[in-house]
Amino acid sequence: MFASAIRNSRLGIRRLTTKPVQNRLYQHLAPTAGAAACAGPSSSPLAARLEARSASAARLSSPSIIQSRFMSSPSAAYSQTVDVFPSIVIEAGGNISAQGPFAEAQAQFLEPDMEAVHSLNESLTKANMGVVAHYYMDVELQGILTSLKIEQLKTSDSSRIAIADSLKMGDDAVKMCEEGATSIACLGVDFMSESVATIMSRNGYAHIPVYRATARHIGCSLAESAEKDAYQAWLQKGRAENKNALHVVYINTSLETKAVSNSIVPTITCTSSNVMATILQASSEVPDVKIMYGPDTYMGENLVTMFTSILNANWDDDKIAKALHPKHNRATLEKLRDNIDVYPNGNCVVHHMFGNEVVNTVKNNYDDAFVTAHLEVPGEMFQIAMEKSLVDKGVVGSTSDILKFISGKVSLAVEEEAASASAGATPSGDNRRLKFILGTEAGMVTSIVKSVQDILAAAGSKTIETEIVFPVSSEAVMGVDDDDLAVVPGVAGGEGCSTAGGCATCPFMKMNDVDALSDIAEMVIENSDEKKMKSHLPPQRLIGKKIDGIDAVDLGSEPILWMRHFMKESAMPKSLIQKISS
Ligand code: SF4
Repeated sequence: MFASAIRNSRLGIRRLTTKPVQNRLYQHLAPTAGAAACAGPSSSPLAARLEARSASAARLSSPSIIQSRFMSSPSAAYSQTVDVFPSIVIEAGGNISAQGPFAEAQAQFLEPDMEAVHSLNESLTKANMGVVAHYYMDVELQGILTSLKIEQLKTSDSSRIAIADSLKMGDDAVKMCEEGATSIACLGVDFMSESVATIMSRNGYAHIPVYRATARHIGCSLAESAEKDAYQAWLQKGRAENKNALHVVYINTSLETKAVSNSIVPTITCTSSNVMATILQASSEVPDVKIMYGPDTYMGENLVTMFTSILNANWDDDKIAKALHPKHNRATLEKLRDNIDVYPNGNCVVHHMFGNEVVNTVKNNYDDAFVTAHLEVPGEMFQIAMEKSLVDKGVVGSTSDILKFISGKVSLAVEEEAASASAGATPSGDNRRLKFILGTEAGMVTSIVKSVQDILAAAGSKTIETEIVFPVSSEAVMGVDDDDLAVVPGVAGGEGCSTAGGCATCPFMKMNDVDALSDIAEMVIENSDEKKMKSHLPPQRLIGKKIDGIDAVDLGSEPILWMRHFMKESAMPKSLIQKISS
């Protein structure tokens, strides 16, 4: 009922991809595995380890066909040069304009149909459901959720809608449970719903169900790269060769990866916001620690590059102690840098798109822009952002760091505008435009636009414009033999988009959409049959299993709890230090 109301109210809005097209899109992604690649469990190399250790081991899910298909289709790619990237401009006064079809597709959902917003609000309220969504959601979904959050805050001190990074999603879900939500919809990929459920469970809300947007498996190329035999072999070798090994695993991995890894090498989870602090702290407490960083190869290599750049920039002991960590100096930093072992074969299909051509265009045509880059992006793009960050013209870090940086620069500009006006300066008549290269998944734009609009409105700015530039790579273009797929934004416009989720958009994240969310709410309201409701729950692959006699869920949760301890206490937990040294 509610779902159809929302669908009807959105008639006339062009969807990024219609459901039938999405279905064909996924067939394209996984032609050899067919629906199975996206629809359900398949075997994983990790299963062998668990099966060997647990009498009740079950087959584990690890579809990796998407990654291999995506990464290895050179014959489908064609050469294309991009001189001008698509962009969204938040004009003085807050209005939006878009340049290029890809940006137009992103922009059309920034001001959503309010009838759809109200219908979704009604169904979520009736279902007593909270929603936690990742920044990389479909732009249509993000537009509606952002407006819905504003609507809820008009009548309440808190909202049951949160758009955040993967770690904060769990905290937001706990807060919603504390405030009375009886179910949570988690919009992201499967490792995120798994993490959210684990964090809720550890906070006393194991009884509150977490529902995923689809009954199908929602993969992640990065998470799946850690679910291979090669990853375990790398860990085992590291453990055998190093007395004090610590595995620092990126949060974008499954609970299963965390559990199995933790059984081989003591493991702590990190996010892109705290990875640097984590390894600095660990090495300050265990000077000879061998850091095994995985699975994101680009992120690991970027960390090593950062340390090298700092050393090459001749930071002295005092500056290192003040800016990085009080117990580090040049000698310890060099030792730490040389003690980092990065897993060589893991990356995210989206961030992989920021290749040479994009880098050249950024260098040649966007010298005046601020450059932002997620820690997961390939080296050259990262290098540009890092060089710019040293002169405060860019930032490298997490999604939250990027949002904070852009908001900070816009705030500074409006402050300067106000100072100039109060000093009686004569307006030049020209607007001032701040330009930002968005070096991460394009879904971030919804939160960025909202933040910039809020800053401009609060300051009553008249002259500050903000341009968010999407550095779209021609490497993302793949040949397609299906005419129907021409509706995927950007393909016809030749802006480097691909049917496999190019345009710096994640095909896995885009398995979440507005219809799917309203369907979940409807499912809860109608108390659908148990089998259907169960199919939307996060993966439960570890329940009831043991590794080396230890409960696998406990073993997989430990790296997350250790990270939380570090974030709270600014020190490594004693139990982890003991495990590293034992
Ligand atoms: S953007 Fe998509 S593929 Fe990349 S890490 Fe996130 S979920 Fe995985």
